[in-house]
Amino acid sequence: MTASELINPATEELLRTVEQTSLAGVDDAVARAKAAQRDWARLAPGDRAAALRSFAAAVDAHVDELAALEVANSGHPIGNATWEAGHVRDVLQFYSATPERLSGKQIPVAGGLDITFNEPLGVIGVITPWNFPMPIAVWGFAPALAAGNAVLIKPAEWTPLTTIRIGELAVEAGLPPDLFQVLPGKGSVVGERFVTHPDVRKIVFTGSTEVGTRVMAGAAAQVKRVTLELGGKSANIVFDDCDLDKAAATAPYGVFDNAGQDCCARSRILVQRNVYDRFMELLEPAVKGIAVGDPAAKGTEMGPLVSKSHWESVVSYVPDDAPVAFRGDAPSGPGYWFPPTVLTPERSDRTVREEIFGPVVAVLPFEDEADAIELANDTPYGLSGSIWTDNLSRAVRVSRAVESGNLSVNSHSSVRYNTPFGGFKQSGLGRELGPDAPLSFTETKNVFYAIGDA
Ligand code: NAD
Repeated sequence: MTASELINPATEELLRTVEQTSLAGVDDAVARAKAAQRDWARLAPGDRAAALRSFAAAVDAHVDELAALEVANSGHPIGNATWEAGHVRDVLQFYSATPERLSGKQIPVAGGLDITFNEPLGVIGVITPWNFPMPIAVWGFAPALAAGNAVLIKPAEWTPLTTIRIGELAVEAGLPPDLFQVLPGKGSVVGERFVTHPDVRKIVFTGSTEVGTRVMAGAAAQVKRVTLELGGKSANIVFDDCDLDKAAATAPYGVFDNAGQDCCARSRILVQRNVYDRFMELLEPAVKGIAVGDPAAKGTEMGPLVSKSHWESVVSYVPDDAPVAFRGDAPSGPGYWFPPTVLTPERSDRTVREEIFGPVVAVLPFEDEADAIELANDTPYGLSGSIWTDNLSRAVRVSRAVESGNLSVNSHSSVRYNTPFGGFKQSGLGRELGPDAPLSFTETKNVFYAIGDA
């Protein structure tokens, strides 16, 4: 085993070292998970439900500890991190109802009885990114476990600590240790082995479109199932008939939450030309009012970027001659700080086309509804987005026309555990969350029972 060093992004101090799982370690974990899954699937549905409720209760009892770990490891503001830890509990609670409700169908046919069963797939490999370690992990592991599978999870190299702790809490809550295993390590070792190992029957990958494409190609060799949650370049469309004060006051939170390291970030604000100047006047104080600083302090709204190399990547999008309209604050001194930054580039600029994954937003004027829709869809991505209008017909027309998996009208909400989440186009494949997520961890088996004459 090798170890990797974790750095606190707000202080640049060494936080901890974490052992990296080897190839042989993955193979051993898969073999143990395979055996544990058979026992888990054989348990009475009510017993599996109770085990998931105990897991949720264990997380609930450690919300503050998990939140503090995320502040230190990822630089998330304490308010956000506390919500994220509570979200793990809530998602586990939601899917703890699944084992007792995962019913198949009885289909009327001639000559016998026809029944469908939702059979678990077996061992599931979940690969997560560094931006939301806790929520993204639970979106994969909770419905997968609930549907009767075993789960191996590989957290991102930079941010494994909360996932490791959640794995310990599962065992403390009474889940079989081999059923849910956290395997920290490299994508090129642990992640790739999930893809190539024949006993890992499905991959849930969240991360960049580049690596997701590679995971999908690798999975094709075994016709392995995949769910992919990938990048985004979402639009926040502001029409002239909306509540402009509210649209401007909330726009920063639609893009700068988690320092813009959010796949759903509305990183393109499209504003109808006749209200563009007024919108910019209203946006400036909202951006300058964002509380950027110590993530452990209550009231902080935005922390640092996650790492030095990611900071360098974000910096490269804002050279000295960048069309900066205005910027917010950021601390100086140690830490990977970057101020909220508003750009007014041309439509063809790379800041309009590429996912920056930092607190940088491009504001672009548009002429009319048709132009807004064309501009919003002029991207290979399609994950999220917002539409601001007080015209109901326009809200319906535009929300149906924008090619995106998750839209909100007159708000910036993207994720609720009880509604489906996922991307159009190159933002992904499949859906997580919502009532149907457990079905994506099952195969439908149809059995016909011939009935003989009496
Ligand atoms: P990344 O693609 O670099 O890494 C994601 C995970 O894949 C990490 O755990 C990494 O170790 C692993 N990995 C790397 N190479 C691998 C390989 N060859 N085989 C298997 N696994 C491998 O992404 P990141 O930089 O950690 O995260 C940022 C990206 O994630 C952004 O593009 C963002 O939009 C996306 N994201 C999407 C969603 C969504 O729900 N759509 C949510 C969060 C983040």
